[in-house]
Amino acid sequence: METPAIRIRDLQKVYAPAGSAPAKHALKGVSFDVPQGQIFGLLGPNGAGKSTLINILAGLVMKTGGTADIWGFDIDSDSRNAKRSIGIVPQEVVFDPFFTPFEVLENQAGLYGVPKAARRSMELLGQVHLADKHNAYARTLSGGMKRRLLIAKALVHMPPVIVLDEPTAGVDVELRRQLWDLVSELNAGGVTVVLTTHYLEEAEELCDRIAIINHGQLIANKPTRELIAMGREKVVVVTLDQEIGQCPEHPAFHKCEKVGEHTLEITYDMDRTNAGEVLSLVQAMGLNIVDVTTREADLEDVFVSLTSSAQAA
Ligand code: ADP
Ligand code: MG
Repeated sequence: METPAIRIRDLQKVYAPAGSAPAKHALKGVSFDVPQGQIFGLLGPNGAGKSTLINILAGLVMKTGGTADIWGFDIDSDSRNAKRSIGIVPQEVVFDPFFTPFEVLENQAGLYGVPKAARRSMELLGQVHLADKHNAYARTLSGGMKRRLLIAKALVHMPPVIVLDEPTAGVDVELRRQLWDLVSELNAGGVTVVLTTHYLEEAEELCDRIAIINHGQLIANKPTRELIAMGREKVVVVTLDQEIGQCPEHPAFHKCEKVGEHTLEITYDMDRTNAGEVLSLVQAMGLNIVDVTTREADLEDVFVSLTSSAQAA
């Protein structure tokens, strides 16, 4: 199997207590792989632990447990190669206002030891649509231009993986669109992209695969299409008057599981059918229902809580 672009196993972070603030268990044993070549979304509400995870990969936060590889290089034992394999676009925009975009990129290339002949500052500025601003002071750039410059800055050492931490938090609709296009262009050019977001819609639109993190724990990790389908599932639990041999099957049932001697859990797509029809189908199979409860699929609760926290933000 191909080496994953990023491989995380049982990643833990406990922030030590400081002053009156107690210790904070920000990552509680997170494991997942980011496949090469994808746009991978790390979705979660504010405070979920996204930036902590990204900052561990960037070498800015010390993990307290677990392992992480970037492009096959362990961030502890092979930190030099790991660092070279990743470009990080931080959540906060910070620049020295007196450097020009061209100088910002040249300085960053210097930091990474990219030899002068191998630098491609102008090409990168072109890629993020800032070529005409190469000589302007950073302080004169608009918010959107600054964010694009940050992306170019993360690419100076030509890493195969780039990570964007909440690239569109607090930006207007037009700029969000521009940044989405840029992310797609980079990915089409062969760069593996990881982005964190608390917007479900953004992850849906851009990402091939989505992992959801909440309170420092991974609660889902699936191809986007499957995840979205799960969000439309509902479950009906039926108790029958007889012992169940085999689970009844029907195209309207996504899944049917025996959860007790007399009890079945049937999962269905709320866009295509409803609980009433599911029960009629069960009865039509000659089964007598003595009790019924329904519940939402777990993930739907997650989606609801995520979308509502995104709206609140
Ligand atoms: P996200 O990026 O998903 O919003 P963070 O990783 O920033 O989440 O934060 C996860 C949790 O860790 C939050 O409860 C936050 O308050 C806490 N946290 C983040 N940074 C620190 C820090 N430097 N010291 C103590 N707690 C922190
Ligand atoms: Mg964050």
